[in-house]
Amino acid sequence: MAEQSVAVIGAGIVGLATAWHLHRDGHRVVVLDPAPEGDKASFGNAGGIATTEIVPASVPGLVWKVPRWLLDPLGPLAIRPAYAPRLLPWLRAFLAAGRAGEVPRIAAALAALNAGVEADLLAMLAATGLTGELHRLGALTVYASEASRRRDAAEWSLKRAHGVVAEELSGAEARALEPALGPAVACAVFTPQWCHVNDPKRLTDALREWLLRAGVVIRAGRVVAIAPQGEADIRLALEGGETLRFGNVVVAAGAWSGRLARGLGERVLLESERGYNTTVADPGVVLRREVIFAERKFVATPLSIGLRIGGAAEFGGLDAPANPRRAQALARLARIYLPGLRTEGGVAWAGHRPATPDSLPVIGPSVRHRNVFYAFGHGHLGLTQAATTGRLIADLLARREPPIDLAPYAIARFQRRAGSRP
Ligand SMILES: Cc1cc2nc3c(=O)[nH]c(=O)nc-3n(C[C@H](O)[C@H](O)[C@H](O)COP(=O)(O)OP(=O)(O)OC[C@H]3O[C@@H](n4cnc5c(N)ncnc54)[C@H](O)[C@@H]3O)c2cc1C
Repeated sequence: MAEQSVAVIGAGIVGLATAWHLHRDGHRVVVLDPAPEGDKASFGNAGGIATTEIVPASVPGLVWKVPRWLLDPLGPLAIRPAYAPRLLPWLRAFLAAGRAGEVPRIAAALAALNAGVEADLLAMLAATGLTGELHRLGALTVYASEASRRRDAAEWSLKRAHGVVAEELSGAEARALEPALGPAVACAVFTPQWCHVNDPKRLTDALREWLLRAGVVIRAGRVVAIAPQGEADIRLALEGGETLRFGNVVVAAGAWSGRLARGLGERVLLESERGYNTTVADPGVVLRREVIFAERKFVATPLSIGLRIGGAAEFGGLDAPANPRRAQALARLARIYLPGLRTEGGVAWAGHRPATPDSLPVIGPSVRHRNVFYAFGHGHLGLTQAATTGRLIADLLARREPPIDLAPYAIARFQRRAGSRP
């Protein structure tokens, strides 16, 4: 007989939020991670609860901007040349996701997911005593020119069509909200629904500690293979030779999840989209809310540990060494908009966003194995969508009807169609 407990593979924010929901449903939960307390995307991200972000990364016309970005060695996008051939299938799918007909479909799916975020996140934070970790002050997207804001008009319209509140502000109005912004800000858009957390690492640590106190087992162990033996009998092979048995398994291993899904014979396009940031404990300027610098595609968030300035998207695989100059370059760039900013003593960080080509996470059951579930691929929105993902996975395990149609997030979307190229 297999144990009827559930294994959650991965102790990032998605795995922990999933463990919380499963624990609440009465499951015996074991979280496995080679380093449950170790660094991961969930620790160093920008801390934004960005429910207003429903436009996919790939949009019509983006392809024309890419060469300019790639030519700038410290620009918003980088592809490591040695990795480029391996990235081709993902890139092809990324471009396909940016077709005019696809963008509204993907936006609707992101909006459906994000619609549940506030309720799910607040419920989880309240139940774990972490409500005070969330600031509900909105965000400011700032532009260096009116022409740039006009170029983004279609994206703002799409967001508004999905209920996003987006108020156009002049440069002076933006500075009235955030006096640290300098004259380089020509205009802005205020999105009051956006929230941010005190510190994503503190939140993740606190959730893990709450789960441990509640009796959830969180143990060190890298899963190297998932081997379903039959109905509700799944063996997990750990690095080092140990084998564990579970009734159900949830793969929530962030950017590493693709390897586990492929081991089960399921095709998935998942890449590490590495991001960078610098956190300055004493920045000499005060921001109250997250600021998004629209043209240069980076953000600054006032965390409890300092001002975190970051962004960038680098594709080089999971094993390439990080390039800390990217983190420093973003901090320097921020001085254009925040003239009083001091960046001395800033701490650089890099982390792997788990990126799918269509900007949609993979949430749902395995195609091949009834008791294996996927919860990964949240890209830029893993902190935002973690609690909602956990709730949806708990619904699936309980065979409850989820509140939204999960078809857009199914892993089945990556399976090869007859005649399609690999
Ligand atoms: C610079 C940057 C800024 C970001 N800003 C935001 C933001 O403002 N808002 C937002 O919502 N999102 C943001 N994100 C995205 C967000 O951080 C991620 O989407 C999210 O943290 C992913 O969480 P996760 O739990 O899936 O993965 P991770 O946090 O990466 O955790 C995965 C865990 O799985 C474990 N693991 C890996 N392989 C195995 C294995 N074989 N067996 C067991 N365990 C394994 C790893 O050790 C790791 O602990 C940002 C990301 C970056 C890089």
